[in-house]
Amino acid sequence: EVLINQIAAGEVVERPASVLKELMENSLDAGSRAIEVALAQGGVKQLRITDDGCGIDKDDLALALERHATSKIASLEDLEAVGTMGFRGEALAAIASVARTKIISRATGAAHAWRVTEREREPAPAALNSGTVIEVEDLYYNTPARRKFLKSESTEFGHCDDVFRRVALARPDVGFQLAHNGRVSLRLAAGDAERRVREILGDDFMANCRRVEVDSGPLRLYGFAALPAYARANRDAQFFYVNGRFVRDKLIQHALREAYADILHGARHPAFVLFLDMDPAGVDVNVHPAKTEVRFREGRAIHQFVFHGLSRSLAVPVQ
Ligand code: ADP
Ligand code: MG
Repeated sequence: EVLINQIAAGEVVERPASVLKELMENSLDAGSRAIEVALAQGGVKQLRITDDGCGIDKDDLALALERHATSKIASLEDLEAVGTMGFRGEALAAIASVARTKIISRATGAAHAWRVTEREREPAPAALNSGTVIEVEDLYYNTPARRKFLKSESTEFGHCDDVFRRVALARPDVGFQLAHNGRVSLRLAAGDAERRVREILGDDFMANCRRVEVDSGPLRLYGFAALPAYARANRDAQFFYVNGRFVRDKLIQHALREAYADILHGARHPAFVLFLDMDPAGVDVNVHPAKTEVRFREGRAIHQFVFHGLSRSLAVPVQ
């Protein structure tokens, strides 16, 4: 069982950033309104996430570190219509198999909190006002071969920062804070989409972008796409989400590049924050545990819709 978890961990837990992604998604699934992340040494030494979500009750806490203990899928049909971010029930188990892991949680309505660790899986009473705190320390302490693949502190922090921004961009209604080695590096108050995009991509992006808002039947594409005047465009300013999940998909990237081809002439990278909402049954997000790849049932139709939607939005003359 430990071995299976460690193998699964290799796919789910590539580096601190992948741990962070799973934990942030869990916090969001729990309905949190405020999420704080504190990292030490790029997240390798410590990664702590504090949320104000619904918490985990004692019985579920005893199972939370076991494989396939998910509260989110009751049947195979549910897999078709995954509304939550996590749905495999293997992230916490995988993390706990390769790092010292502690969970303290107080379920809504519970008299007090409970804690478990990867060693002490029987819940013990603990103190916490509400929500959940998860601490992940010494990633890959027990699998030195894996640990060797981790990069420098600043590289690992950079990946964590990327994940943090990707998640935060998609949820402007939630407040987020990121700290590294005791210093707060990003604080984002809950607000509207425009404010969140401005905080993450900057005033220059906001001043030189088009609002995108197109729909066709069950398909909706919306967000912000930079015009050529946005000078600092780079590869790091590309955010595309399908049903709220950040994805990096060949078909989508091709459609976006084509839509931008006429105005950027291939000279620079496009910059955008775009959300595609569609029927969950039309997209398979289960391709890989890291879940940035997707497979569309009707790829051609999606490509057409994204290409034409973005082309039209970018072509509107500047007033
Ligand atoms: P999954 O998210 O795929 O269900 P995980 O291993 O990520 O699997 O989490 C296991 C379970 O632990 C979740 O289904 C959820 O019930 C619970 N859980 C994890 N993190 C939190 C959290 N921050 N708040 C509330 N419940 C949580
Ligand atoms: Mg999860």
